[in-house]
Amino acid sequence: MTRSIRHRLLALTLVPLLGVLPLLGLILLLWGNTAIDGLLIGKIRSDLAVAQGYFDRVLAEVGSGTQAVAESARLQRALAIAPPERAAALDGLLTRVRRERGLDFLQWRPATASAAADTDAAGLAGLPDHSTSVAVLTAAQLDALAQGLSEQSRIALVATDGAAPTDRTTEDRGLVLVAHARVTGAAGETLGWLRGGVLLNRNLGFIDHINEIVYPEGSLAFGSQGTATLFLDDVRVSTNVRLFGDPAAERAIGTRVSAIVREAVLGRGDTWLGRAFVVKDWYVSGYLPLADAGGRRVGMLYVGFLERPFVAVKYAVLAGIGVVFFAVMLLAAWWSLRAAGRIFRPLEAMTATMRRVESGEATARVGPVTPPDEIGRLAATLDHLLDTVDDKTRALQHWGDALDHKVAERTAALEAAQQQLVRSEKLAAIGQLTASIAHEINNPIAVIQGNLDLMRLTLGAHATPVQDEIRLIDAQVERMRLIVTQLLQYARPNEYAGYVERLDVAEVVQDSLVLVRHLLERERVRLDNQCVAGSAPAVAINRQELQQVLINLMVNAVQAMAGDTGPQGRERVLTLSVREAADGAVCIDVADTGPGLDEATRAALFQPFFTTKRDGNGLGLWISRGLLERYGGELLATNRPQHDTQGRPPAGAVFTLVLGTGEVSPGPPR
Ligand code: ADP
Repeated sequence: MTRSIRHRLLALTLVPLLGVLPLLGLILLLWGNTAIDGLLIGKIRSDLAVAQGYFDRVLAEVGSGTQAVAESARLQRALAIAPPERAAALDGLLTRVRRERGLDFLQWRPATASAAADTDAAGLAGLPDHSTSVAVLTAAQLDALAQGLSEQSRIALVATDGAAPTDRTTEDRGLVLVAHARVTGAAGETLGWLRGGVLLNRNLGFIDHINEIVYPEGSLAFGSQGTATLFLDDVRVSTNVRLFGDPAAERAIGTRVSAIVREAVLGRGDTWLGRAFVVKDWYVSGYLPLADAGGRRVGMLYVGFLERPFVAVKYAVLAGIGVVFFAVMLLAAWWSLRAAGRIFRPLEAMTATMRRVESGEATARVGPVTPPDEIGRLAATLDHLLDTVDDKTRALQHWGDALDHKVAERTAALEAAQQQLVRSEKLAAIGQLTASIAHEINNPIAVIQGNLDLMRLTLGAHATPVQDEIRLIDAQVERMRLIVTQLLQYARPNEYAGYVERLDVAEVVQDSLVLVRHLLERERVRLDNQCVAGSAPAVAINRQELQQVLINLMVNAVQAMAGDTGPQGRERVLTLSVREAADGAVCIDVADTGPGLDEATRAALFQPFFTTKRDGNGLGLWISRGLLERYGGELLATNRPQHDTQGRPPAGAVFTLVLGTGEVSPGPPR
């Protein structure tokens, strides 16, 4: 998308540039071309005017010179000489004067000459006192004027490309500047006529002089060559144009003007200004028609200069303009590309940043953009937006983590509650079973007790020898009754709730020992009773129940030590101690030197019916913990701290009763 916008923007700037500039260049080229052509035409116009000026001056000089001779005293004096000497004197004078004046001919025509002797006497008679004009004279006329003139004027025609077709092979007429001046006598009568003039055919001095005036040395730039020509009709009779374009080559006398120029200048009488093909090359040319006294167009005056060097310079200039335009276009295009690059770099940076953010690099930013224009501000806004999104995402993540934690906590609590529920359901079932068994056992116990009482009554004094046995049976029956009651108490605690009083733990321990002492002796277990009366605060519990728990733990300890297969010779010691915990609870430790508790046993210890003994029922610890928990206490099982330096397993288990010192029952036991 950025690319297409970039291209569109580039097109927006480049199309006018690349469209308008070439058009402008083309217009400039055309205009330049026309302007240069116009300049060249302007120049040739002025060149032609200069040449014409010179031509007219020479014509005027021929006229004034002839007239001056006609009015001169010398001529009068010569005319005053009587014939036959007069003719020789006149001839000598005219020859002298002709040379002085640079004329090709100077002829005296007496007014009295017969028509037969002077064919143009009638024409002369019609002339004003003096006249000057261009004229074309036939070979005969020329010869009549001066010896050798027709010879000088004869020109062989040279076939020329582009000239009008002709059958002629020679031009034997002469183009002359001719002046007539009347010579008058003292009384004003016409004595005769002076006819002076210059032959233009092959008059190289004349044409070279025109060329020098119009194109002095170094006046033409770029090595162009100036040329000048006089035409008789369409034939070059005097020119500095060379054949074959070579300055050393022969002059192109006898060649003819192109048909198109002839048609325009001689045919229509126009002045030709423009390019024209001259002999061998193109020239910027000016042709002026020359008319004789009768107004007939008899020849042309031409000046021109070689076009080629100017054209070369013109094309060089135009090419230069083209190159400059092209360079400017290239420069402008390059600048536009660069400018577009500068504009789009921040946009591309923004796209790249968004891509990086998308691929997970949340900290990617565009950064500061120079110059801080609209796009720069857009980039800053994007960065700000990304910052905001980043903050929000982090906050969301934080909330998510917190939520996970809470869910985990709640799940654990739920699991604990569920376990509790399972346990209480199990307990309820076991309670029911226990209750029914206890009821069943209560009846045989009552029968045994009743019959024992009956035996004692019946035997009376005869019972004395078995008095001890009877007391033992009594005690055991009592114990059975107690166990049954306790089972029932456990199963239905509300029904059998015992009387809770404040008890000195050391005292209860002492009482309980009575019941296990014979067992200790039988299994050769040393008793280490560290409980001192009054050393700990009184605990709030039912006496029988605490006794039951203590006895249970002590029996377990003795049994563990008796069945111990551990190292030989280890002393069997049952240690009882009481201490006050930091939180004010009273702890009774029952420790033995038995095998201790392995991991599996410790995990399953308080499960109902878990036992490792052949005749065990696995209820003892379960019931004991239940009892203590009912009073807000606890029963904990650990091993003795490791003393053995040889890495043997812990020597003995430690059961700890944790008892509260709180509430007691208001009334006496039932
Ligand atoms: P029972 O004594 O009928 O097996 P208990 O609940 O009293 O039931 O005990 C469960 C089990 O706990 C015992 O079988 C025994 O493996 C283990 N145990 C109890 N007290 C100790 C002790 N002091 N040392 C080692 N193991 C013990």
